[in-house]
Amino acid sequence: MEIYQGTIKTFFKEFKDIFDGKKIYLIVDENTFQHINYLEETFSVTSTHLKLESGEKNKNFNNVLKIWNFLNRNNVKSSDLLFILGGGMLTDLAGFAASTYKRGIEFIYFPTSLLAMADAAIGGKTGFNYQFLKNNIGTFTLPKAIFLDTTFLTTLPKIELDSGMAEVYKHSIIGDADLWNYLKVNPKKLDLDYIIQSSKNLKLEIVNKDPYEKSIRKKLNFGHTMGHAIESYLLDSNTPTLHGFAIAKGMIIESFIAKKENLLNENYFHEISTVLSNKFKPYLNFRIDSKSIIRFMLSDKKNTQNTINFSLPVKIGEVTINHELELKKVDSYLLEFFQND
Ligand code: NAD
Repeated sequence: MEIYQGTIKTFFKEFKDIFDGKKIYLIVDENTFQHINYLEETFSVTSTHLKLESGEKNKNFNNVLKIWNFLNRNNVKSSDLLFILGGGMLTDLAGFAASTYKRGIEFIYFPTSLLAMADAAIGGKTGFNYQFLKNNIGTFTLPKAIFLDTTFLTTLPKIELDSGMAEVYKHSIIGDADLWNYLKVNPKKLDLDYIIQSSKNLKLEIVNKDPYEKSIRKKLNFGHTMGHAIESYLLDSNTPTLHGFAIAKGMIIESFIAKKENLLNENYFHEISTVLSNKFKPYLNFRIDSKSIIRFMLSDKKNTQNTINFSLPVKIGEVTINHELELKKVDSYLLEFFQND
């Protein structure tokens, strides 16, 4: 797998070798559709496309079927190429469809959201939501290539850019204190290429050592045990939230748990919760029922009947894994957190 960062034009020559003689099929949503011309003109290709509806609610089996039907209808062969032009919802969903169609066809990600560039497109996890569970069904499959081109971000709504920032902050807490300090000092004026590169490198370093999440890849789950439960809980409510904001709240709560477990000192907790609360201020006023959140965490594949498995920070730049906490304890921590929230 190759990862290219820069405007896609720069990679035209190398890329020509990948697609020479292949038929190109393309998956987009109604918002990323506008970038088809840029892609086709830059690479001098024409493609047949399928346009899906955007949004986390559409990361479902019905849309996997639509992609398989599209591929069948066009008699796509394993020698053909699938381009996936979209945010993390589309890279996960279409990546899954491609990884299972005819036991896997080659696909290329053109991530168009910050979240997908900094995180979702990297590391090979594909999947979709099933029976109210986030990413309940999925595979580990790497695309043939990933193109990280910030030109796509010019049309991304600000709220989506902010949501993507949550995963960048997460990567900084997990293992890049320099990035954290950069974000702390420059919360508004960001060098997108720098933060995407740092974020991608951190994730790559981890997933290359542990591609199937047997050990250190679990570090990436920081904020996600709680965050996915919050996201799933709100997904079906009248007030769904974006992935990044659920994760931002998840990181604050899990840092509180780390403090309660004497893993993270008060100063670090204060710094993490203050920086994240300020950065994501307009987006974190969720109405959350902690009992329901616990129910969602229990149905997470990582947890057992009586314990919940957390990845918890010990300082900014270091997260430790496999903290199995009793349900009762998590319940009381959540109660305490929400009382003071
Ligand atoms: P998304 O794909 O739903 O995109 C957000 C919105 O922005 C959508 O409406 C989309 O159409 C629009 N959009 C995307 N690019 C655009 C552009 N350039 N211009 C205009 N609009 C654009 O969501 P996301 O935030 O990109 O990703 C969230 C998803 O990523 C979640 O499903 C999450 O589970 C997944 N994820 C996966 C991994 C992984 O390792 N596989 C990691 C983190 C997150």
